[in-house]
Amino acid sequence: MTIDFNGRRALIRVDFNVPLDKDGKILDDTRMRKALPTIRSIIDQGGSAVLMSHLGRPQKKKNEDGSINRKKFSLRQIVQHLSSLLETDVQFVDDCVGEKALEKSTNLKAGEVLLLENTRFYPEEAKGDDDFAARLSKHGDTYVNDAFGTAHRAHASTTTVAKFFKRKDRTLGLLLENEIQNADKILNSPNRPCTAILGGAKVSDKIQLIEKLIDFVNFILIGGGMSYTFIKAKGGQIGNSLCEEDYLDLALELLEKAKAQNVEILLPEDTVSATSFSNDSYSGIVDTDRIQDGEMGLDIGPKAIAKYDAIIQDSKTIIWNGPVGVFEFENFAKGSLAIADSIAKATKKGAFSLVGGGDSVSAINQSGKADEVSFISTGGGAMLEYLEGKKLPGIAAIFNED
Ligand code: AMP
Repeated sequence: MTIDFNGRRALIRVDFNVPLDKDGKILDDTRMRKALPTIRSIIDQGGSAVLMSHLGRPQKKKNEDGSINRKKFSLRQIVQHLSSLLETDVQFVDDCVGEKALEKSTNLKAGEVLLLENTRFYPEEAKGDDDFAARLSKHGDTYVNDAFGTAHRAHASTTTVAKFFKRKDRTLGLLLENEIQNADKILNSPNRPCTAILGGAKVSDKIQLIEKLIDFVNFILIGGGMSYTFIKAKGGQIGNSLCEEDYLDLALELLEKAKAQNVEILLPEDTVSATSFSNDSYSGIVDTDRIQDGEMGLDIGPKAIAKYDAIIQDSKTIIWNGPVGVFEFENFAKGSLAIADSIAKATKKGAFSLVGGGDSVSAINQSGKADEVSFISTGGGAMLEYLEGKKLPGIAAIFNED
């Protein structure tokens, strides 16, 4: 952050979209803690901080009468915790634009922190509306985007607002800079072998990522629900496992493309089979291409775990996106926990490892190995799009010419 913040108000877009329980208790404050270095740095330089964020999807989950649920989606619920993390009394205003909010931000003194109410209470936010962004911009003399999790969205507070600040008055925050630097370690001449482990539910979500990965990795280890579309495409019998029939041809094309570029795509040799989609439905370990009708694969099996481990241990750069099984069910979490373990071991031996995507981050947290990988990304979709080589609007908006 090269801006002089002394005596100035920084309008900071943070990602405080934290999971809350029905009583408003914060279930995981990772995103809040990751935003602290930028806020602290600005305050330490003699600036003040006006924080804006979204929380949940208030426009999609309205009250029965069509109004916004201002209680459930209010950022007021996190003020106390933020105050304790920052060790200062954070002020709050129950709007993100308008006179009341502007009066608060205008009167902010050096060292003070103000949190604005959920930007998504206004439909203009997601539309990237110009007038709304202009109103938001009034809260700051400088603009800092530190919300990597929403950097792939061209929303008013993440993208449009930037143009109301001169190039010299806008910057990426420390978290966002760190995310990019770590992703670039993978994109720009990674140490080899470079291995990607891809899981999750669907092939359709990851096609562009797989295509891009084929250009620069040596191994792609496939797991999770998407394995079965590949296995079926190759003529295997997958029973009732998750399958995207429309993507069978594309799955074969991806396998061909990888072969042509000397990239090995591995599919799990064996599978933990279940009689239904539930924790208590364990049926046995079977070859992934011989799953009986009426059964479904919910995790990778022991042979696949061993094979993937061997490749991971030999790797110098590792990316993990998506659990390799239904890790939310204890009986089908073994594969994902084993992958977390393998990555932690390889990291200890000197590999660089990046874990990104909400569910793989949950899986690594569950395994207790979160501190043993090189970098955990706060952005699911944003990290995917960055690795796919797409330009993220929230980042581009900072660097546009005036
Ligand atoms: P994604 O958001 O695409 O990374 O998908 C994550 C979800 O994929 C998790 O909720 C997992 O439970 C789910 N998943 C992983 N493996 C399987 C599987 N074999 N069958 C169905 N769902 C799966």
